Amino acid sequence: MKKKPSLIVPVEQITWEGLDIPLSLDVDWFARWLHDQPGLEFSLEKPLTGTVHLERHEGNILVRGGLQGELIFTCSRCLETFAGPLTASFDLLLKRGQAQALDQEVELSAGELDEDFFSGDELELNVLLREQILLALPLKTLCREECRGLCRQCGKNLNQESCSCPAPSFDSSFAALKKLRND
Ligand SMILES: [Zn+2]
Ligand SMILES: [Zn+2]
Repeated sequence: MKKKPSLIVPVEQITWEGLDIPLSLDVDWFARWLHDQPGLEFSLEKPLTGTVHLERHEGNILVRGGLQGELIFTCSRCLETFAGPLTASFDLLLKRGQAQALDQEVELSAGELDEDFFSGDELELNVLLREQILLALPLKTLCREECRGLCRQCGKNLNQESCSCPAPSFDSSFAALKKLRND
């Protein structure tokens, strides 16, 4: 195994020619994230992989990259866990300074670049990567589009078994018939 590249990059190492950093965000990486942010509603079993390209433009840093892999989600209907794809790609311009200092003009900002800020002598890619993963999460976490969820009355997972709870409304006669047949 190769030694893993650090996600903390000294700003002076970033030149106009650019620097490519291979990414492999593994279970340990995720554990540290979860430690910092215990409310995360997904987990990781296999590493997310990708690359990030860093390039100096005047005092600013261009960050371009992508991540692919799989996250483990909990279905919001049936509460089962499932693996779902995650793809993040990003294109950011980091300006030196704090978030509120927005008065210098930046020629590069035409186009689709998102802007952010950095300060100090080191670029901490962790925070940036965490942010990009959060932005790439699916809006709805369903194990599949047609997930039938849990029965509101007995709590059974209706994807796996049916139950004989009386249906609440219009189809109650059908449910009663079904119950007769099942008994
Ligand atoms: Zn489900
Ligand atoms: Zn039921």
